[in-house]
Order: sequence, then structure tokens, then C-alpha cells
Amino acid sequence: MDIHAGANRAFIEGLKDRLGPAFVLTEAADLDAFLTETRGLYRGQALAVVRPKDRDEVAFVMRECAEHGIPVVPQGGNTGLVGGGVPAGGIVLSLTRLDQVRDLDPVNATITVEAGCILKAVQDAADQAGYLFPLSLASEGSCRIGGNLATNAGGTAVLRYGNMRELTLGLEVVLADGRVWNGLKGLRKDNTGYDLKDLFIGSEGTLGIITAAVLKLFPKLQVRVTAFVGCASAERALTLFHQLREAAGDQLTAFEYLPDFGLEIVLKHRPSSVRPLSGRHHSYALIELSSPQRDADLQGRLETILGQALEQDLIEDATLGTSEAQSQGLWSLRESLSEVQRLEGGSIKHDVAVPVSRVAEFIETATRACEAAMPGIRVCAFGHFGDGNVHFNLSQPVDMDKNAFLAQWERFNRIVHDIVHRMDGSIAAEHGVGLIKRGELLLYKDPVALDLMHALKKTLDPHNLLNPGKVLETGDPLTAIS
Ligand code: FAD
Repeated sequence: MDIHAGANRAFIEGLKDRLGPAFVLTEAADLDAFLTETRGLYRGQALAVVRPKDRDEVAFVMRECAEHGIPVVPQGGNTGLVGGGVPAGGIVLSLTRLDQVRDLDPVNATITVEAGCILKAVQDAADQAGYLFPLSLASEGSCRIGGNLATNAGGTAVLRYGNMRELTLGLEVVLADGRVWNGLKGLRKDNTGYDLKDLFIGSEGTLGIITAAVLKLFPKLQVRVTAFVGCASAERALTLFHQLREAAGDQLTAFEYLPDFGLEIVLKHRPSSVRPLSGRHHSYALIELSSPQRDADLQGRLETILGQALEQDLIEDATLGTSEAQSQGLWSLRESLSEVQRLEGGSIKHDVAVPVSRVAEFIETATRACEAAMPGIRVCAFGHFGDGNVHFNLSQPVDMDKNAFLAQWERFNRIVHDIVHRMDGSIAAEHGVGLIKRGELLLYKDPVALDLMHALKKTLDPHNLLNPGKVLETGDPLTAIS
């Protein structure tokens, strides 16, 4: 007989009484979507999926969990890429019903939103009020603000606006014991002690449940121009980036990088896409300049800079997207890359960052090392070059068995992450640690930093109920299923 069964039943009934039975899901068919993650790497288990409607219900659920010793895994859109939202027992706390825009203050240039708001809905609310909320990710139609905060999400506009931490002024957080920390202030200056919000941002649900946030707004962009350029090496792309930054300053809003292999698989698997340049090149950069000033001559500026780059041999060819449709066409080449890589068989992925000045050296060194370790491996290093953030992905050799290739994941982690570490980089740039990288953290994170992280975890979550086993090794790992 399971001695916990009765206690768990009483716990679930208590939640149903307060939230309503429709918002405490216990049937296997209803739980399914909450137990797996985007890449299908892990499958979890849970007693229930609990869907509170507001902060007070979240606080109630947390008090009940604390009293019954039930672990809690918060979930937003469940688009995370490191297994951080997969439960290993306990409940999934889904924040999707907390989806209200609570306030928009035009003079303070802030928007106050609840954690369950879809990122795209926040962008749209800002846009309708004549402002820009600049966080932009390929998953923006389904990821939620709470998940963006908990992972300190980055995306394509970090170069100009920063990641989620830099876009946030205040937070409301429900703690492990059910108390509410009201830090929902829209202040640009506040030196009244430690910055608590920065602790919760990027904590991946291990320190508290984020229920709302005050986010910064920016002037709406009036003009943008996009260019797609072909380069003979990553090193030349880096010199071009430096020159653009010097010449265009804050108008440079994106500098994304794709290798030749990446562009070729996009063109192969998405027949509707158009080859942007007539020939093939070692690599490509997608560049965007934008401005809130209607009369800014971005096209003239970009043409001048790229003309000089051609003369200096920094680029071999270039095309400009001056209309919205052309810009979108160029962006879709970059944004389809993750999806089409799936169609090329197994991929081993690394989301890493190095200082921007070393990003070309990293790509070249790590590419050589991986090609030497496995002849035929196809390196697909792409991403937010201007932030020093590379998605250093490896596609399997064409004729290799997928599972045999994926079995080499640890070996390639060592090769790639050792190089990142030697370059003073980060082995978890924008997707976080979750389950996938917690072992890697032990190898590469400064031991004093790890001690401090454990001390904070113990203080804020003494009974280890908040997303146990994620980020830090404080609970049972789940078993990878493929
Ligand atoms: P979830 O997946 O639900 O949760 C992520 C983590 O946050 C989990 O650990 C969870 O427990 C925790 N969490 C969720 N909500 C809360 C809360 N309210 N309080 C406390 N903890 C919480 N990420 C980038 O940074 N940049 C990209 O460019 C990018 N591109 C992507 C493209 C695609 C196609 C996909 C599928 C994902 C991409 N991601 C990217 C990853 C992912 O979309 C982001 O990490 C996103 O911020 C997660 O939001 P979510 O609501 O889906 O969070």
C-alpha cells in the first residue's frame, strides 16, 4: 500500500476546492503535453497540473505544497530547450491563466504584465500603444513572459536592447513558503540594498514563482533595412561587425551569422525560399539597421558601409532588403535554421558565448576540433554573432546511424566546452542550464560561485521544493529518452 496516496489525495482535493476541479488536471491524457519538452529528449511525471488564475491562487498553491512537501515545477509556454520545465514528480504549476496586461505607463515607458502573457501579445500591446517591446525569439508566439524571465531569454535584438534582465525594472514573486515579494516597481534608480529581481531572473524556477513584471518600452521603430552578405571567413565577418558598430552605433540592431552548410539546408528543405546571393560563400551575415526616426537614411548608410567592405575584401557579395517583405524573406532564412537541421538527422547542440572579439576564433577552432574528432561531421555554427553567442550545432555524418551519433554527445561537449572555457566563455548562453547542462556546470562554473548558488537555494527554498534537480544537482535526474 502506498502510504503517501491518501495524503496526496487530500492535497489534490484541497487544490480542487480552492481553484475549481477544472483547473487541477490529473487525467493522464490531460497531463501529457506538460510532461515532455520541445526536443523530445525527456519525459517526466507529475501528480497533477495546477492552473491558478492569479497571484493569490499561486500563493495558496505554494502554501499547500510547502505544507505537504510537494515539489513544484513552474511552466509557461513549455518551449524551453534545456529540460527545465520537465517534472520528476510533484505538480506542474502552469502560469498560462495569469495573462493580463496590468498597466501601461507611457511617460515612464513601462508595461506591467503577468507571467502567463504570451511574448507576442506583449509586443502587440506595446505596439498598439505606439511603443516597442524589443524581446524577439522564434518561439514568441507560444513562450510566456514568466518563462522569458526565468530563463533570462535573449533572441535577435540583444545587441541593441539587451536580454530579459536588462529589459526588466520590477518583479512580483511568490516564494517557496507562499509569501509574496512585491518588487513590482518601475524605477530606473533604486539603490536600497541588494538587487533581488536579478536573482530571480534566470533562476529557471528554482528560487521562486514569478507572477508579474514591469518591463521597459522603447520608441517604436519607423525604418529598418536588412542586408544579407557573403564572407570568405568568420574572421572577416567579425571585422565587418566591428566596422558596422563603429559607423552605425545603436542603429545596428542585429548581426546574425550562418555558415554555408546552414544556408544550403534551408534552401534544400524549404523550396519556397530564394537563394539570396548568386554564388556560394564560406559564411553569411544577416545585418539589420533600424531607427525610430522616420527620416533616418539607413539605406544610404548601409550601402556606404557595405561598399567600403567590398573594397576591403571583407565581404564578397551583398543584397539589401529594403521593403518589409524583402526583410522578412531574409530573416526567414536565418529563423528556419533550427527547424531544417532536424531534417538532416541527429544534431548535438551547444548554446555558448565567448567575448565578441573571440567569436570568429571560437568558431574556427571548435570547427577544426570537431571535424578532426569525427570525419564527415557537419558543423552548423550560427546565431547571435554580435552578442558573442553561437549555437554551435553538429549534424551527423550523412551515412551514420542517428543513435550512434547522439551517443557521442558527452564527447563533443568536452571538446566544445573546453574550448569555450579556455576563452573565458559561457557554456549556457541564452537557453539556460535546466537538466541538460547541470553536470557541465559542475565542471566549468567557478567553485565559489557554485557554493554561493547552493547557499541562496537553501535560503530561499530550504526544503528543495522549487524545480528540484534543475540548474543545481539537488534532486533526482530524469532519464533522457533518446
Ligand atoms: P518554459 O519552457 O515553460 O519554462 C522555461 C523555464 O522557466 C523552466 O525551468 C520553468 O520551470 C521556468 N519557468 C517558467 N515560467 C516560470 C515562472 N513564471 N516563474 C518561475 N519559473 C518559471 N531562447 C532564447 O533565449 N533565445 C532564442 O532566440 C530562443 N529561440 C527559440 C526558438 C525556438 C524555435 C524554441 C522552441 C525555443 C527558443 N528559445 C530561445 C527557448 C525558449 O523559447 C525560451 O527559453 C523562452 O524564454 C521560454 O519561455 P516559456 O514560457 O516557454 O518557458
